[in-house]
Amino acid sequence: VASLEIDELTKTYGRTKALDGVSFSAGRGVIGLLGPNGAGKTTLLRMVATVLAPDSGSLRLLGLDPADPAQRIDIRRRLGYLPQSPGLYAGFTPFDLVDYVAVLKEHTDRDWRRDETRRVLESVGLADVMHQKIRRLSGGMKQRVALAAAMVGSPDLLVLDEPANGLDPDQRLQLRSLLSQSSTVLMSTHNISEVGALCQSVYVMFSGRVRFAGTPAELAGLA
Ligand code: ADP
Ligand code: ADP
Repeated sequence: VASLEIDELTKTYGRTKALDGVSFSAGRGVIGLLGPNGAGKTTLLRMVATVLAPDSGSLRLLGLDPADPAQRIDIRRRLGYLPQSPGLYAGFTPFDLVDYVAVLKEHTDRDWRRDETRRVLESVGLADVMHQKIRRLSGGMKQRVALAAAMVGSPDLLVLDEPANGLDPDQRLQLRSLLSQSSTVLMSTHNISEVGALCQSVYVMFSGRVRFAGTPAELAGLA
């Protein structure tokens, strides 16, 4: 069963067709959404993250229907989301924030949560600052806190909006192994070289539509 089945999604804001009939389906692996600013990437990712409903069209995520409230809850437990501008509670520490996200996903075992929270924060290189207030961290560190929060519990479906934002070249390289922890990852980027480095398949969006679907190698062959 495909992890992601997206059928004819539309979304209009005023006169702007943010999504103008987007369809695709994808199985496992890292799937890249490539496109310029305004192409509709964030709008699509928000639908896959179940925080925005389409005007028309349908989605199935992990075989479940986000339009159904009970199924939406199951999807959210199994999904990790890094929004475009993550709002982090500045007075929390990275440890508290990631632990809190784990609570929201109904991981009730405190010892398990403590170990898992440490694991994801170590995996993004934040072991040394996990008990400092988020407001004292650099922009790149905040991005990694948000990434760790998305990854807690090794979600089956990871939805990442511009995950490389604010990361230095070394940290970008580390993204590759982080992404391999989830069976399906959908990530946006406006950087074609990132797609080649991180993704197994790629969808190129322009003006609310998918204009290309294939592998990064096939896309490079067109350039
Ligand atoms: P991308 O992530 O590819 O930059 P977006 O999905 O953010 O694209 O935006 C697609 C289009 O929809 C843009 O023209 C954007 O201005 C518009 N848009 C997105 N969200 C809103 C919103 N909440 N209100 C009004 N217009 C929006
Ligand atoms: P509930 O408590 O019922 O889960 P929420 O407010 O948490 O209610 O969720 C409702 C949200 O689910 C809405 O904001 C809507 O945007 C979102 N949603 C996401 N995907 C869909 C979908 N495919 N159909 C309907 N609603 C959806």
